[in-house]
Amino acid sequence: MTHANDDLKALIRTIPDFPKPGIMFRDITTLLLDAQGLAETIRRMAAAVDGPVDLVAGIEARGFLFAAALAVPLNAGVLLIRKDGKLPGVTIAEDYALEYGTDRIAMHEDALVPGQRVLLVDDLIATGGTARAAIRLLRKAGGVVDQVQFVIDLPDLGGAAALEGDGVKVTSLFAFEGR
Ligand code: AMP
Repeated sequence: MTHANDDLKALIRTIPDFPKPGIMFRDITTLLLDAQGLAETIRRMAAAVDGPVDLVAGIEARGFLFAAALAVPLNAGVLLIRKDGKLPGVTIAEDYALEYGTDRIAMHEDALVPGQRVLLVDDLIATGGTARAAIRLLRKAGGVVDQVQFVIDLPDLGGAAALEGDGVKVTSLFAFEGR
């Protein structure tokens, strides 16, 4: 059976046991190297946006690539969500749980005007921990976040379902089974 976007899925390279045993790393660098594949990825993501949006928020680091490319045809600005300690201005931050311990992401406190509509973008959703923290952060700043886009979904890890539970529409171009 063929699925929509199988042509783009075929451009992803899978590297087993990276960064640790048992993880199938879905490597987007091979898709990025393909000029036509990259253009089609952005075109199809843009077509799935429920517009208009004021800002596209990208999650460090791979999310930046897709957020910036997508913001141009959407006529939107780009908002950076970074690892804590990287942004030079005054920031607000949000913690989220990892398998072992916690991590923290941050954004400039004045990056958005309360009420602006923000599309959140990342390359891949797994457990959803990162994206859910990003949504909490954007909402804390006053942003209206009702849609999130990923290139890749790993549905077995339940992240997309958890995000739907947070009241956002989740779109991804294609999915891989397993973790
Ligand atoms: P999560 O917070 O569990 O949804 O993890 C999402 C983040 O981890 C994304 O920014 C991905 O880039 C990265 N990630 C998680 N699992 C994988 C995987 N199997 N292959 C590539 N990247 C992954």
